Amino acid sequence: MTVHLVGAGPGDPGLMTARSLQLIAQADVIVYDRLIPESALDGARPDAQLIYAGKEGGGEQVPQEEITRMLIEHGRSAEVVVRLKGGDPFVFGRGGEEVEALIDAGIAVEVVPGVTAGIAAPAYAGIPVTHRDTASAVAFLTGHEDPAKPDSALDWRSLAAFPGTLVVYMGVRQLEAIAERLIAGGRPAEEPAALIQRGTMPGQRSVQGTLETIARLAAEQQIKAPAIAVFGPVAELHDRLAWLQRRPLHGVTIAVTRARERGSRLAERLRGLGAEVILAPVIRTQTLPGPAPELHQYDLICFTSPNGVEALFERLEAEGLDSRAFPPRAEARVAAIGPATARALRERGILADVVPTKAVGEALAEALGNVPVTRALVARAREARDVVPDALRERGAEVDVLAVYETVVELLTPEQSAAAAAADFITFTSASTVRNFLASVGGVEAWLARGPSRPRMVSIGPITSDELRAHGLEPDVEAEEHDINGLLAAIMRT
Ligand code: SAH
Repeated sequence: MTVHLVGAGPGDPGLMTARSLQLIAQADVIVYDRLIPESALDGARPDAQLIYAGKEGGGEQVPQEEITRMLIEHGRSAEVVVRLKGGDPFVFGRGGEEVEALIDAGIAVEVVPGVTAGIAAPAYAGIPVTHRDTASAVAFLTGHEDPAKPDSALDWRSLAAFPGTLVVYMGVRQLEAIAERLIAGGRPAEEPAALIQRGTMPGQRSVQGTLETIARLAAEQQIKAPAIAVFGPVAELHDRLAWLQRRPLHGVTIAVTRARERGSRLAERLRGLGAEVILAPVIRTQTLPGPAPELHQYDLICFTSPNGVEALFERLEAEGLDSRAFPPRAEARVAAIGPATARALRERGILADVVPTKAVGEALAEALGNVPVTRALVARAREARDVVPDALRERGAEVDVLAVYETVVELLTPEQSAAAAAADFITFTSASTVRNFLASVGGVEAWLARGPSRPRMVSIGPITSDELRAHGLEPDVEAEEHDINGLLAAIMRT
């Protein structure tokens, strides 16, 4: 029974620590704040109790005593309690108070630091908070208070004299007063200043100016909280070091319709290239339970998707078996429809013997042309094309088709459909994503009625494109390689 004070980082889910993800996955109870990454709780257990403790749309914050009381109560009854905070829990996060109260109550505590916004937001704007030539020190301060207040907790005269970068949290509202104080305290009016809104998140914006101009510029550009202000020579480096905007898909929004698990791989790759990703999964894969097949009776075992590999291994494992249930390499060949499927096999210790370069059934059938086969197993989805089994049967092989999973429709929420429809691109990775997506948005007429502002449609390959055409739609671009890399290449081409 431990309460873990966990930093969730500044907003980019990629900046969450390994430990934070581990704890979120284990937690019985998660008490979370407003400024955590949108997807931070995706990995929580479905039965975990999720409690929101932040401010409701500018309204009342759940009082700190109430939060502390709740943490103590859950800390006494639940095994793993995660107190999830934006950035780092000990940087302007009242983490110190919470730990103190927990320790006083005799509850075990762990603190998991996070990437703090005061370093990360500037970094994403191309601003290093220290620099060998111009900044040998950095101070983090809160701009929450009106600096003109006589009883201000901060000594602005000393801060003005601080020989290094000043990083201000919660300072948007008081920006003008803060800048004035710093100038009055002796900092040069022309000292570079920057303000970064929503650092590391989609829609990050920043303005650059000087101590004298920054408040006016921020007001003109309507910069709002959450934002970090940086004062010092390093703020000027933005122009030269800005790297975010240089990424190939910066500013591009892409909707991903494939199933959540696979979709998140594609999403990661897209985000890595700078895209903003809208997850709009319209299918879900569901493994079909059943007995493990007797693999030794086959001299060819074919997999037509990574899901098929996982589902078959689930059946093996359910019976206490593992990859040793496969026949030895000398006796049987294993075929994978493409590189992703081969990778899923390799993760299980099986090296595929046959992998066509194009991940479609026809290519697999062709690649199997010279492979001797008398009895084959095809592990695949319940509804799938029969290209591979037919081709093998034609050659006189006995073929067992084993449906190890099925894809079922997942309905989009109205928000998800709206967000997907407003994207620049929408990716379709199978015929079923096309069908289900169109059903989700109210049919093809409703989709066409959106006019030319519709997202451009990216198809993973010919089968998916044919499904689009069957609905009277023409894909804007089709991948040459029918996998994630091909899809990315297709998007970059347009
Ligand atoms: N514990 C947090 C800070 C909480 S105070 C941390 O370590 O980052 C809240 C303030 O943090 C906001 O008012 C804003 O100044 C800053 N902040 C948090 N996330 C931010 C982000 N993504 N971009 C810019 N500023 C952010």
